[in-house]
Amino acid sequence: MRCSAIIVAAGSGVRLGRDAPKAFIELAGEPLLRYSLRTVAALERVAEAIVTVPAAMERRAREEARRAGLDIPLKITAGGSERQDSVRIALALSGAESEAVVVHDAARPFAPPALFDACIDATRHTEGAIAAVAVADTLKRVDGNLIAATVSREGLWQAQTPQAFRRAALIAAHERAARERWAATDDADLIERCGGHVAIVTGSLRNLKITTPADLELAEAIAKSGVGGRP
Ligand code: C5P
Repeated sequence: MRCSAIIVAAGSGVRLGRDAPKAFIELAGEPLLRYSLRTVAALERVAEAIVTVPAAMERRAREEARRAGLDIPLKITAGGSERQDSVRIALALSGAESEAVVVHDAARPFAPPALFDACIDATRHTEGAIAAVAVADTLKRVDGNLIAATVSREGLWQAQTPQAFRRAALIAAHERAARERWAATDDADLIERCGGHVAIVTGSLRNLKITTPADLELAEAIAKSGVGGRP
């Protein structure tokens, strides 16, 4: 199954409180974006990559792809104002020959190639498949600083990326989202709202998303320990 990979890396990363855009912040001496590019370079079925970056960072991103050893066709584009816009822009650049598209956040540097492969494989049977982990903590709904309710965690999973979809289904879902002004924080949500089936592939908490300075500290420790799972 031919597949296109989309890496969304156009976020500003304001919650990290750094000067540089998040995807270009260094983690154990390498920009965050390089980790995902290296992983995509290791995927046999991925025939092209499309990367969204903040405006004026296109040249830096191409250099990162070279350093990551990515030798498949690569398109780099400025992203949109929200993540969903960035995915839509990238999707429009993907080749019609691809049956599947795998979308990944550059903010998750440790997603292993096997997790991408498992998501792509699962799209043979469903419209999509996403990495996710079962919720382990007890969940509270809070009003102000007081607990209003304890929410059962049974059947609750935390969605991650990679997320793979049949390309035609994802394009249709994004077109409908634009028409009907849906806003979603991941692509699976759009497919679900269109009535599509999305499967879960068990991920790992090591596939953490870097949002805050504390996440970056944890990621540094993981990267330096070598258990993060370099391809
Ligand atoms: O902001 P957040 O960390 O939730 O973003 C998830 C991913 O989406 C990040 O890799 C970020 O670079 C990307 N993104 C994007 N375009 C935006 C906002 C976020 O490509 N407008």
